[in-house]
Amino acid sequence: MWGLYARPGLSLRMKSNPDIVAPRRSNDTLGVYIHFPYCIHKCSYCDFYSVGMDRALNGEKNVTSKAIGEYMQALRLEFAARRQLFIQKQINTIFFGGGTASLLPAETIFAILEMLRAEFSFSPEIEITLEGNPENFTPGYIAAIQDAGVNRIHVGIQSLRPHTLKQLDRYYDEERYAAIVQTLSDSAIANRGVDLMYGVPGQAEDEFYQDLDTLLDTGISHVSLYSLTVEHGTPYDVMVRKGTAPAPNDELQANIFEYLPARMRERGFIHYEVSNFGTPGNLSRHNLRYWLYEPTLALGPGAHGFNGTHRYANVRNTPGWQTAPTAAALDLHEPALELPLCFLRILLPMDRRDLEALIEAEVPGKSPAVMKLLESWTSLGFSSFDSAFQWNLNGLIRLNDRVIELQELLESNS
Ligand code: SF4
Repeated sequence: MWGLYARPGLSLRMKSNPDIVAPRRSNDTLGVYIHFPYCIHKCSYCDFYSVGMDRALNGEKNVTSKAIGEYMQALRLEFAARRQLFIQKQINTIFFGGGTASLLPAETIFAILEMLRAEFSFSPEIEITLEGNPENFTPGYIAAIQDAGVNRIHVGIQSLRPHTLKQLDRYYDEERYAAIVQTLSDSAIANRGVDLMYGVPGQAEDEFYQDLDTLLDTGISHVSLYSLTVEHGTPYDVMVRKGTAPAPNDELQANIFEYLPARMRERGFIHYEVSNFGTPGNLSRHNLRYWLYEPTLALGPGAHGFNGTHRYANVRNTPGWQTAPTAAALDLHEPALELPLCFLRILLPMDRRDLEALIEAEVPGKSPAVMKLLESWTSLGFSSFDSAFQWNLNGLIRLNDRVIELQELLESNS
């Protein structure tokens, strides 16, 4: 399968003025995503592929060495096969997600990094992120994963309030939640961030902002802020439809969404994607990889990979994946549908020539019409567009309609 993606790439460019960060697409370097499926408890609103250990592994709070061994065996098999799909020689981002990747012991993380290093070189600026939950991020664990090679952590806190965590049906360890603010302040890994959620039933607007301020005061460099959504098919979706659980507060969510960009700017954060904010120099390079339509070698149950021309989606079933870790078929990508969902989420200025080149390469013949459409959005007050295209707040609020508009244009025969 070598040679599937032979087009010369562009490199990421971070200009010296952080206000004009301009992301550039790179096909030369590779990202790796490792999906670890286990969580202590499966939250009822969660749509990610994850397995609650309270159901699957007899209520353990740590993954058993047997489960880790079976996971690693399948991961090695999948890597040996999938590796052939990617022509890149160097990895510049690795992301351990899940599930709860912080349930992975540091020595397993080290073993996975060694497995990757045996086949690829690591960029000197490589970003290696481990995402997980407060119950695992003790000072000792942070030091151990730093020794293993991790240089960025992201903690899924969601809220510092027990009543909101309960409403979310999250596992809640009182002691660890009480300690997490101090742990983040003292973290040996400087590049650290958190996830928070807003619009949860019963969560007062002030409580959300107070939690946000408390966490920003710890010196974190990245924040992902999500509104609670009802994901189709989740237990929360069923409960909302039956009327046994309250729906999220849409009006409050809309108010917070519009207010957050200015508030985060005041705190020195760049709003670089719909839900993501980072301090200058600390935007997640791995996140940008998805929105810039760059290749990612993804491993693990439920993981989705993309080599630049083909995609695969692993089965959302851990025993099934462990039995046949490379069973997922390769499908040709669909840039007309996928590109609008990716690059329109980027809120940084995007160079006009880079955009033109991206569209022309992926959907040949369409770039003149796309440039016209982007200009029309600027005339309607959604964006600015001279040497670079950039959304404004008005455009951001109406982003979904623009995505559909661009998909229709790219799919049309004209
Ligand atoms: S901890 Fe995260 S991944 Fe696990 S079930 Fe809850 S929301 Fe999903």
